[in-house]
Amino acid sequence: MPGLSYLTFRKQEASKGVYDAIVIGSGTGGLSVASILSQAGQRVLVLEQHFVIGGYTHAFQRKGYIWDVGLHYVGQVHIKGTLLNKVFRYLTKEQLEWAPLDDIYDRAIFGDKEYVFPRGRKNLMSALKEYFPTTEDRASIDAYFKLLSDVDALGTMYYAEKVLPPFLAKFFGGLMREGTLKYSDQTTLEALKAITKNEKLIGVLTAQYGDYGLQPSESSFYMHAVLANHYMEGAGYPVGGAPRFAETTVPVIEQAGGAVVFSARVNEIVVEGNTAVGVRMADGTVLRGKRIISDAGVVNTFSSLLPQDIIRKHKLDDMLKNLTPSLAHMGLYVGFKETFELPKCNYWIFPDVYDHVANQHAAASLDAPLPVAFASFPSAKDPLSQTTHPGRTTAEVIILTPFDWFKKWQGTEKHKRGEDYEAMKARVAEKMFDILFRAAPQLRGKVEYYEVSSPISAKHYVGHPSGEIYGTSHTPKRFRQTFLKPYTPVKNLFLTGQDAMIASISGGVMGGVLCASAILKKNVIWTIQKTIKG
Ligand SMILES: Cc1cc2nc3c(=O)[nH]c(=O)nc-3n(C[C@H](O)[C@H](O)[C@H](O)COP(=O)(O)OP(=O)(O)OC[C@H]3O[C@@H](n4cnc5c(N)ncnc54)[C@H](O)[C@@H]3O)c2cc1C
Repeated sequence: MPGLSYLTFRKQEASKGVYDAIVIGSGTGGLSVASILSQAGQRVLVLEQHFVIGGYTHAFQRKGYIWDVGLHYVGQVHIKGTLLNKVFRYLTKEQLEWAPLDDIYDRAIFGDKEYVFPRGRKNLMSALKEYFPTTEDRASIDAYFKLLSDVDALGTMYYAEKVLPPFLAKFFGGLMREGTLKYSDQTTLEALKAITKNEKLIGVLTAQYGDYGLQPSESSFYMHAVLANHYMEGAGYPVGGAPRFAETTVPVIEQAGGAVVFSARVNEIVVEGNTAVGVRMADGTVLRGKRIISDAGVVNTFSSLLPQDIIRKHKLDDMLKNLTPSLAHMGLYVGFKETFELPKCNYWIFPDVYDHVANQHAAASLDAPLPVAFASFPSAKDPLSQTTHPGRTTAEVIILTPFDWFKKWQGTEKHKRGEDYEAMKARVAEKMFDILFRAAPQLRGKVEYYEVSSPISAKHYVGHPSGEIYGTSHTPKRFRQTFLKPYTPVKNLFLTGQDAMIASISGGVMGGVLCASAILKKNVIWTIQKTIKG
């Protein structure tokens, strides 16, 4: 396991002196900015509250099985020479490898009908046109792909604006955001209804909406388009599993004299005047850094990590009122003590109704059909799984849930949450097993072990206040919030991760790239392009 415990860290030399940067949280956003700053010669300290490094890229083990938590596929990384491929190679000094998923990387199932998402723009267009062969639908599909290309062509202007020094952003920011806002101000449903009236087609085109966690009438079309473009050429999975991201970035940080510490909860960011100078740990220890970077999410950072007088001074509470948390999630993690031939793809499973909005509204209670469920098989995706965990197969099912359903168990202790909590999880687990066996009927009757996570688990392990799956919700309004960027109103305090960019593994990582660019005052993407050949 990478990193060192807080207890060990406290005993070591490493705990002395002022760090060039202190990073709160070891998710993709935290480790990526730490790796870049380390490669620029800085001494970086990463502090993680959980006892495992990696944020949503951590994995957990039980009885000889291992399951990833928040990484099931990442677009573009498996194709040598793409920007994301180079970014990950840079962050990990070429130590992280990616295994491609099957050419059919996503499968959407509505009732008994399956729609496949094959790798490649042309292939996906053809597949869709076979499912929807009328002249009108074929024209709508062309219009949809044109829209996706238009968003893709906007390039990086929106993100580049996030790293402009604040005084320049005041002058040029509006212009740089303009192109994106044209798409981000529309909901996904509005954008799609403008090109087709076919509800089924809209249902299929938005079948991956679980990847950003918000149904089409509420999500920003920009988020939808970014996501659809991201997976257009298929996807990769880390060889050795999701924890390989931490395993390959932590040594880069340590080699530069830094440290990555687990079981290290930060209680407060120490601010003198209006300058962030350190962090106060849960045990009261103050650690000092020239810069403080938060990967803990904008809500944690602006509402509970900063001192009250600073929150008031900058009206941070008011800024947060423009954001809503993304939905929470539940996971079913299943182990089988034999090997199965399973596809390296994901299943998106829906009721026999293509209207995601109606499905979501119908799912107001636990007994309603699940509006969307995701199923996949990590052991099938990882080419090393039979070496590291021979004779084992793993499966996962993820569903979106309101945090409110679990609110009453906030603050309760693990394994002591009571019978009603266990009963609630068991009811949902039953439904999730149905989903799993729809995706892979051959697994029925073969389960050796399973476990169910709730939004309370996500809150406990990853620290998101409402057990959020993707940080702040990706509504049109979110994309208008100019404070979602590395710079904060507090001098030397920066944001990284998904809230500084957008949700996803690559979003978290690119949040780190942006944050490092703001701190180093240079375009880190150019550095990466120059350093990583091929
Ligand atoms: C179930 C699920 C499935 C997903 N599947 C995919 C997928 O297949 N592909 C994809 O691209 N994306 C996926 N995602 C999204 C992706 O995992 C996230 O968008 C991304 O990992 C977020 O990275 P981050 O660094 O911003 O935040 P996080 O990974 O949440 O990291 C934040 C870290 O900060 C720590 N922290 C918080 N408060 C403190 C504190 N006070 N002191 C110290 N540490 C603190 C937390 O413990 C955590 O480790 C999935 C997410 C989930 C939940």
